[in-house]
Amino acid sequence: MIPLKETTLFSETQLKVLSRLAVKDVRDIFYYLPRTYIDRTMRLDLRTAHSGDYVTVVGTIVHSEMRFAGKRRFTAKIDTNGFTVYATFFNAGSYLQKALVVGQEIACWGKLDVYGGRLSFMHPEWELLTQDKAKHTGRIVPIYRITEAMRKSFLTVRTLSEKIEECLNRYASRIADYLPKNYISRYNLLPMADAIRKVHFPQSIDETEDARRRLAFDELVLFSVLNEEKKAAIRKIDKGFSLRIDTTTKKEIDNLINALPFKLTRDQEKAFETLEKNSEALYPVNHLLMGDVGSGKTLVALLVALVYMRCDAQVAYLAPTEILARQHYQSFLNILPKGSFEGIELLLGKDGAKERRAKLERLSRGESYLAIGTHALLQDDVQFQNLRFIIIDEQHRFGVEQREKLRAKGKNPDLLSMTATPIPRTLTLAYYGDLEPIYIKEKPKTRIKIDTRILSEEMLGGIYNSVKKYVSQGRQVYIVYPIIDESENSDMASLLSEYSVLEKTVFPDLRLGLLHGRLTGDEKESAMQKFREGLIQVLVATTVVEVGIDVPNANVMIIRNPERFGLSQLHQLRGRVGRGEHQSFCILVEPDKITPEGKERLSAMAKTDDGFELAQIDFELRGPGETTGLKQSGASEFRVADLRRHAALFEKARELLVEMPQIQTQLAALKNIRQTLEKGLVLFGN
Ligand code: ADP
Ligand code: MG
Repeated sequence: MIPLKETTLFSETQLKVLSRLAVKDVRDIFYYLPRTYIDRTMRLDLRTAHSGDYVTVVGTIVHSEMRFAGKRRFTAKIDTNGFTVYATFFNAGSYLQKALVVGQEIACWGKLDVYGGRLSFMHPEWELLTQDKAKHTGRIVPIYRITEAMRKSFLTVRTLSEKIEECLNRYASRIADYLPKNYISRYNLLPMADAIRKVHFPQSIDETEDARRRLAFDELVLFSVLNEEKKAAIRKIDKGFSLRIDTTTKKEIDNLINALPFKLTRDQEKAFETLEKNSEALYPVNHLLMGDVGSGKTLVALLVALVYMRCDAQVAYLAPTEILARQHYQSFLNILPKGSFEGIELLLGKDGAKERRAKLERLSRGESYLAIGTHALLQDDVQFQNLRFIIIDEQHRFGVEQREKLRAKGKNPDLLSMTATPIPRTLTLAYYGDLEPIYIKEKPKTRIKIDTRILSEEMLGGIYNSVKKYVSQGRQVYIVYPIIDESENSDMASLLSEYSVLEKTVFPDLRLGLLHGRLTGDEKESAMQKFREGLIQVLVATTVVEVGIDVPNANVMIIRNPERFGLSQLHQLRGRVGRGEHQSFCILVEPDKITPEGKERLSAMAKTDDGFELAQIDFELRGPGETTGLKQSGASEFRVADLRRHAALFEKARELLVEMPQIQTQLAALKNIRQTLEKGLVLFGN
């Protein structure tokens, strides 16, 4: 690496300021990427801009003043093609007064605001453009993030871009591209040195896209190398156990499957076979089982659990709520022959001390083989004799630490994570590089398609009438609100404010129940139990009902302010109905005020009931972080790559590593790939 100091282009102060931003050498400065560009041939017409827009304007300062009333406030009035905008700075230093003088041409970028009745930028970033027209006209000007400290040390957008250009002139020829020429052309990429030049000094906006595509590719390659390393490290672990299914167990499982009231779907069979086969590995295997709501993941998990149990291994099955933990426990008892429930423990937070102690003893002595439970499973006093397999249901409900805590109770146990929020393939690769994905796409044949409708709030009267109709036919109904009471947000329908109206005026003859997050565990449990038994006909709830609840008799799901929910959440909510033999409905009650993006989500819901398709749409509308509760994973830290746009590129990066393992070795030999990933991949030759 070439330290910036060596270039003699920067003053001591500038070096210090930059090094605080982790910009220490030429590679770092090459990767100090423009945040945006000004196309000097294009000028924004402010007449079409609105408060709240992020814009760049270029204009002339026609007036400026410094005020000292209370806080120091500096304002520059900027004329852009006859339209006026103000740039306002509080606690402004006098350098602003000196720099932003009348007659100067200035570029400002930031969020438009209305301040004192005038269209203004508050603390915009800015750059003077008056002198040196040769550099800054007729070309696309890179705009860098400039901190206050940088500005004070005379590193402005312009001086910085000049220095970067000088660095490029001197050192670009020494950039060594790790990628062989045939791959550069096969994937239609720019050579590294070109990409670096064009990302800073493009001839056109298109060129910036090409440049970023190349840098994104490198990022994705490095990311994949990291993933491969992680996987390789796992393969080196000897878990000291390997699943061996003997003929007796095989027969037992076949019998259980044959005794079910339904046939396994082909995807369930395949998932079971894959899990069983992969678990014969000598290293710990991690799987992510993705299957839409109601696709029958639980059963697959229980069958695999049984195989482990029959191999004298213990299994832990973690569920996010007591309701679900009970449900799984019950499901397991249901599939086992009558009476053979010994060795299966249900661990809940509310277990009495004595009861709990007895269960824990049986587990720690290895007398019990399966522990199904909530967070109660994670506590320190829960110990196993020989924990080899962990199942995590609705895995996005749990954090990494919780998973690790459970894992630490075993001896490098195998892991099966399950989710009903299918994750697009690209994301699976990015976020779960060490997890083998298994998909259950097929749904049980018995499922009838849910009729989803978007109706306006004016139609609530009619909606309530059909609720009465279905309840009179013996069905049950959910009404879901985004918030509990109005104090959270007065623009939305809230559960508590409407509940009394529903109870007293709308449905005086029906039996209503309440379910929301502020109830105690027992209250929630009792509401659910009553709903399950049909004692409650209309369950008025928040998203507490979202996770996994299975009441086949309920056939109407009404969602208020559905635009407030993400697609996967809406899909989960909808999945609460359509579980029995009755035609089911999901009514999305659309308010008058709704954003175009919100509208798009609702129409996606009406259009398809395929969770995979919805996950893909959600991903495209909202980006990876929002989609799946994956924010905690590392991959959202990509600097250039955008998985929405670069999905295909990601596949290519992985293909490259398979075809050219020597590249993997070469990059893995970099002192610290993670750091390189964070800083950017520029290698220098001589
Ligand atoms: P999820 O994948 O959402 O966790 P569950 O495992 O809770 O779904 O299954 C939903 C319901 O479907 C359960 O009542 C289960 O008994 C039932 N089920 C599972 N597999 C099948 C199948 N192959 N055919 C019919 N019903 C099934
Ligand atoms: Mg489930």
